[in-house]
Amino acid sequence: MYSLPIPCSPERQAVAKQLLKVLAVFGAVVAAIDLLNGNHLGAAASALISVSILVVMYISRSRSSHALPLHFVIWLLLCMYLFGTISHMPLHPEKAVWSTVFPFAFFYLAGLQTGLWLSVFSLASTIIAYQMYSWFGTSLQVTYYGFTQTVGAFILCSIFAYLYEKVRTQQEGLLKQSAQCDPLTGLLNRRGFETVSDSALQQALRAQHPVAVLLIDLDNFKQINDTQGHDAGDLLLKEVSTLLRSQTRSVDIISRWGGEEFVLLLQSDLEGAKQLSEKIRAAIFSHQFSSGHRTASIGVTIHEQQEPLEETIKRADLAMYQAKKSGRNRVEIASRQAADHMHRPSELPRPA
Ligand code: GH3
Ligand code: MG
Ligand code: MG
Repeated sequence: MYSLPIPCSPERQAVAKQLLKVLAVFGAVVAAIDLLNGNHLGAAASALISVSILVVMYISRSRSSHALPLHFVIWLLLCMYLFGTISHMPLHPEKAVWSTVFPFAFFYLAGLQTGLWLSVFSLASTIIAYQMYSWFGTSLQVTYYGFTQTVGAFILCSIFAYLYEKVRTQQEGLLKQSAQCDPLTGLLNRRGFETVSDSALQQALRAQHPVAVLLIDLDNFKQINDTQGHDAGDLLLKEVSTLLRSQTRSVDIISRWGGEEFVLLLQSDLEGAKQLSEKIRAAIFSHQFSSGHRTASIGVTIHEQQEPLEETIKRADLAMYQAKKSGRNRVEIASRQAADHMHRPSELPRPA
């Protein structure tokens, strides 16, 4: 089956599955009614729809074909519109009442762009079919007025569906963004980092590029809150975030890991990561923040083959604590072997 260019989000896939269940039942009911009325061809067509839905649902139980129900339901709806509505136009114009359902389904299931193409295609098919019926002298039960009413309703429903889907996707984007971003600094939060870093890591592994993780913790941050107030602390976090952005490349992934800790993931070997860490440490050390001079301790490590990313971050955290223990304002590196001998101290020396 040709794959339509549609955004296969999990929500759309879930709706497609539910819709298929409804259509399967609907097909069975219509088949029974057609059979009772002696319409054997109609009954066979409706039964075929129900059976094909059951087959698709069965096949799509395997993980590799999880997008199948979504693609299938869109093709099915298009076929239902073309054959069920247009082909019945000459003798059963009342079937046109169904046409208004389709634009909503097209836009929601196939997204804005493909939804628009499907609606335009369906509308064009309706107009062409009407013209053909007229040219070839088919005895049309539908009046010209009835036809224009159908086309008008279809266009209006398409516009409503387009606008609804446009606003919905915009809102969805904003919601996703706010769920993945830290509102104070605008950096990715932990959840956002996990989402973005996962695909970045897979990409780097495929290309056999080394990946480094930096854990940056501001030194004695609590002092700022205690002496200059929470707002000064917040401002410092924003200033540090801006500084981190300016010191890194746009492809590097920066996140606010929590409180005054930042995690940076980049495609680099250990040498490159060490150089960047030193550059960041020096930039923080030499920067004049609103709350005065600040320093940071940085732990660096390289992601090892096959290990979960959280293990790498834990190792960077251990290295960062080593930097704190060694007097802060430092960069420490942790290899996998060295990390086995490191432990996170419960208490660190505090400045007098
Ligand atoms: P160290 O050098 O050992 O890292 O000491 P520290 O004071 O930086 O670290 P500690 O973990 O003792 O304190 C971190 C503080 O950060 C405690 C918490 O109140 C503060 N904090 C966490 N999140 C925020 C925030 O969003 N805004 C502000 N202003 N403070 C925060
Ligand atoms: Mg700190
Ligand atoms: Mg901390």
